Amino acid sequence: MEMNANYDRIKKDIEEFRKYTSTPDRGCTRFPYTKEDFDARNYIINEMKKIGLNIHIDAIGNIRARLDGKDANAPVVMTGSHLDTVFQGGIFDGIAGVVCGLEAMRIFVENNIETNNPVELVVFVGEEGCDFDSPYIGSKVMTGRLGIEDLKNIKNKDGNSVYDAAVDFGLNPEELSKDVISSTDIKAMIELHVEQSLVLDYENIPIGIVKGIAGLKRLEIELEGVANHSGATPMHLRQDPMVTAAEIICFVNNIVGQEGSTSTVGTVGRIECIPNLVNAIAGKVTFTIDIRDIDEEVIERVTKLIIKKIKEVSKFHNVKSEIHNIGSGTPMKLSNSIIKTIEQVAISKNIKTKLMNSGAGHDACMFKDVTDVGMIFVPSVNGRSHVPEEFTRYEDLQLGCEVLFETIVKLAKQ
Ligand SMILES: [Zn+2]
Repeated sequence: MEMNANYDRIKKDIEEFRKYTSTPDRGCTRFPYTKEDFDARNYIINEMKKIGLNIHIDAIGNIRARLDGKDANAPVVMTGSHLDTVFQGGIFDGIAGVVCGLEAMRIFVENNIETNNPVELVVFVGEEGCDFDSPYIGSKVMTGRLGIEDLKNIKNKDGNSVYDAAVDFGLNPEELSKDVISSTDIKAMIELHVEQSLVLDYENIPIGIVKGIAGLKRLEIELEGVANHSGATPMHLRQDPMVTAAEIICFVNNIVGQEGSTSTVGTVGRIECIPNLVNAIAGKVTFTIDIRDIDEEVIERVTKLIIKKIKEVSKFHNVKSEIHNIGSGTPMKLSNSIIKTIEQVAISKNIKTKLMNSGAGHDACMFKDVTDVGMIFVPSVNGRSHVPEEFTRYEDLQLGCEVLFETIVKLAKQ
């Protein structure tokens, strides 16, 4: 099947969403349950109505727009992404998947394409966790990961809860259990998203097929030595946590290269030092280590080696060390059968693809215990994201949309 996505429509939709921002001329800022969100929602709902989709707004505000299949009771094939942005972010993160999903629905309708399973476009509320300090609100509610009490406890900096914001927005979160999706309701969830990194743009590949979402391990290391005069303290009598930290930081970088897989990354991104003076040996140094990979076993192995090294180096420099676990996340593998389906579609269209991992999580990942999950990445120019400079070429969105559409066709027709 050869169906074209409409370049001009995709561009018009994206540029329309650009208008709904609370920070005009300084990137796009659209937090959930705000005026900008309301206007953006009206736009997409209107576009969904134009093509005759069956629209349901759920209790937390996710917009679900369905196209019936021949078998009304068959589980749905779902696509979609989020409408919200970070503070002064870009106009492609989230919206790319919404707009390409919408365009895919138009192709279905305009060409009278019948599927066996229903097809649904979903627009998730509150993915970024930028206003309310918790990401994936809409997709977590839909997959039963957040309940009413959770929504009352998730608050923004003004102390307003998601629950209250949703009520003020005209929603009824008390009803949310009605909208929780179970594995019998859904056949697949496939999300198109901008890559938010450099790889596709750098390698000039238009489509990324996501095979996994990286897990992570985060440590905070506190090294305590003895602060002293930098001029008066001989080298052999020092207990210097700065030197200790430096050796550990280099080790993190080296060990990831030596013992990690090609997808392992390790970063020391934050460091504090007391007293932080030019003429004093540091007394205390605190820093973080962030290890990520698609393979949990590799994360564990590298972390163990780092911890061993911290102890050795600290002992050598006569510095006290404390290691705190400050965060972890399990890696997620995406559906092999959806990966194969996307690959087949791309081969039939002669499109170059790259199998890749995602360093960031997305709405679709919340569906991992409910259904098969797939993700299509389109290139982010220069890898920029969450900034006003964020850009994805419209021809790449068009291509991404066509791959998304044909993947949905294959999944919904089987
Ligand atoms: Zn996003």
